[in-house]
Amino acid sequence: MKRVYNFSAGPSMLPQSVLEKAAAEMLDYEGSGQSVMEMSHRSKIYGTIIEGAEALLREVMNIPDNYKVLFLQGGASTQFAAIPMNLGTKSGKADYVLTGQWATKAQKEAARYIQANVVASSKDKTFSYIPKLDPSTFTKDADYFYICMNNTIYGTVYHELPDTGDVPLVADISSCILSEPIDVSKFGILYAGAQKNMAPAGVTIVIIREDLIGHAMDITPTMLNFQTHADNGSMFNTPPCYTIYIAKLVLEWIKNDIGGLEKMKEINEKKASILYNFLDNSKLFKGTVVPEDRSLMNVPFITGNEELDAKFVKEATENDFVNLKGHRSVGGMRASIYNAMPVEGVEKLVKFMGEFEARNS
Ligand SMILES: *Cc1c(COP(=O)(O)O)cnc(C)c1O
Repeated sequence: MKRVYNFSAGPSMLPQSVLEKAAAEMLDYEGSGQSVMEMSHRSKIYGTIIEGAEALLREVMNIPDNYKVLFLQGGASTQFAAIPMNLGTKSGKADYVLTGQWATKAQKEAARYIQANVVASSKDKTFSYIPKLDPSTFTKDADYFYICMNNTIYGTVYHELPDTGDVPLVADISSCILSEPIDVSKFGILYAGAQKNMAPAGVTIVIIREDLIGHAMDITPTMLNFQTHADNGSMFNTPPCYTIYIAKLVLEWIKNDIGGLEKMKEINEKKASILYNFLDNSKLFKGTVVPEDRSLMNVPFITGNEELDAKFVKEATENDFVNLKGHRSVGGMRASIYNAMPVEGVEKLVKFMGEFEARNS
């Protein structure tokens, strides 16, 4: 059997023990004589899976009781519309910070339904930093304030949250969920597509403060109304059953094998520092993000020479370090080092980069 080090931005690596458990349970889940893929979502046994996944997520993320957890479909991108439709009904205004492609797409989609103000942007420098925010420029009566917490393509992250006062803070945490502890109580909504750090593609987790449910626009499709899913325990229709099951296994891995999110963070910091230290000392490779805003999860870097970049990606692939090509909008390389990437994968990558540097300078 061959396993490569997969640095994909998503879908991405899953813990090997999770894949092994899923394989072992594939034909007969806990003596039911069925695969989880084949079960009725209304069966008692499937109920233990979705309820178990929610309970574990609440425990691992320390989610307060006045928040609902929803398991939805349509990817993170569907939330770009669902959020303004559900929240944008008091003043019909919201503030957005443009820190990359996902935040920009979210703002564009919101602007179809509400007044979606851009309060800051880092587009002037290819989104290589998080803009400094001045609360006096925020819309006082905004229905919410929107950020993309970790910018998957550009490799930046908020180390400090904007002070939005009573305005609910909404954050896309698709590429940093479960990577470190987060104070859920500071947010109105946290949401994430699963395929970066939690499960295969197919489920989107929405963590929403209860008082923000029940104010959707009349035109909101039933399936995009958070109330629909909150009232039905994410079972209004068929949920993405198998993906939720894998999410449960991943949460068990974080809780039992890793030891929780504080430990997860330590490991992620270790991996990121190995890579950033190498980049900071390399004469060939350099990181593209200002040091104070660097992501723990996505690390873009370049040689400054497109031909050398392509050569590096090709040789890395031949050596089983795969999916290191940067996003088409940035070029260069990007190593996504999500939870499931072992420390050893980053150590070996850095060793390979050092050898490549020696051969090419
Ligand atoms: C991948 C990603 C998305 C898009 O997710 P889909 O599930 O493909 O819609 C949105 N936001 C962030 C931060 C992402 O990393």
